[in-house]
Amino acid sequence: MDLVSDAQLRAPMEIAFDYTRSLGPVLGQFMTALGERRILGARGADGRVHAPPFEYDPVTARPPAELVEVGPAGTVVSWSWQPDPLAEQPLDHPFAWALIRLDGADTAMLHAVDADSAAAMRTGMRVKARWAAERAGSIRDIACFEPCDADEPAFVSWPRILGQSDPVTMTIAPVRLRYQHTASAAESVYLRGLAEGRLIGQRCPACGKVYIPSRGVCPADGVPADSEVELPGTGTVTTFSIVNVGYPGQRVTPPYVAAAVLLDGADIAFQHLILGCDPGEVHLGMRVRAVWRPHEEWDTTAENISHFAPAGEPDAPYESYARFI
Ligand SMILES: [Zn+2]
Repeated sequence: MDLVSDAQLRAPMEIAFDYTRSLGPVLGQFMTALGERRILGARGADGRVHAPPFEYDPVTARPPAELVEVGPAGTVVSWSWQPDPLAEQPLDHPFAWALIRLDGADTAMLHAVDADSAAAMRTGMRVKARWAAERAGSIRDIACFEPCDADEPAFVSWPRILGQSDPVTMTIAPVRLRYQHTASAAESVYLRGLAEGRLIGQRCPACGKVYIPSRGVCPADGVPADSEVELPGTGTVTTFSIVNVGYPGQRVTPPYVAAAVLLDGADIAFQHLILGCDPGEVHLGMRVRAVWRPHEEWDTTAENISHFAPAGEPDAPYESYARFI
């Protein structure tokens, strides 16, 4: 983590996962057709053609009876310039987001237009699909749209690839959130302690309880808990679960134990891994000790403690942890 001020640390964070969903019959046909360089719309009960196709008719709420081919050229009905494209957007240089009414459709579709500049964009301009070189099996089979002449015959621009594609039934939408986390003063105290191989909690001056990691304020008394207390790396398992389910990016192979560990001298348990024994051996009251990463790897992150392992001591008496279960 970087230093924001004398009191606080800051670090970049990223949360990411791939959202996978089935497309269903209508969007499945739409995506499959894109792989054949065709764009489909749905004709509604009122005769209007929606592109992309609706899954349920906005008038009758029924699935579409008919999918019809539209485009691949169309007319820009609204647009907005993207001067600084983000990673994973359709183009890596400035482009326009545009609502495009494809020829034969009555509704507009959102996509990117590869124009030289914002000055080259205007409502009413004609554009045509630029197909991706490699089949993507998603909306990215249209790489983007590009300006074209008003009278350009759209269908001669690209050879179509009919009947060569497997049906597309699933789609994966990557979801990424990158942000800066600024640690509170109390969290910074905790993280700096970890960088020195120490566990630093804070004590409430009113009730005397010790919190780790501390939020800086006693939740019971509402007063600053700012006197620092160093705790040992030993504690007691108060609650645990055995993780049997795998997921992308998982660092420990299931089955393994995630537990609430009550450090000796603390008044709140914190979450950690229990490794070093069979998951079936972990139990309430089990005594455990912190296993630190090698000293040369220590930094101001909560990962300096690799995990907790059995301490080899007799179990803690039930009364000593009963109120933390
Ligand atoms: Zn208190």
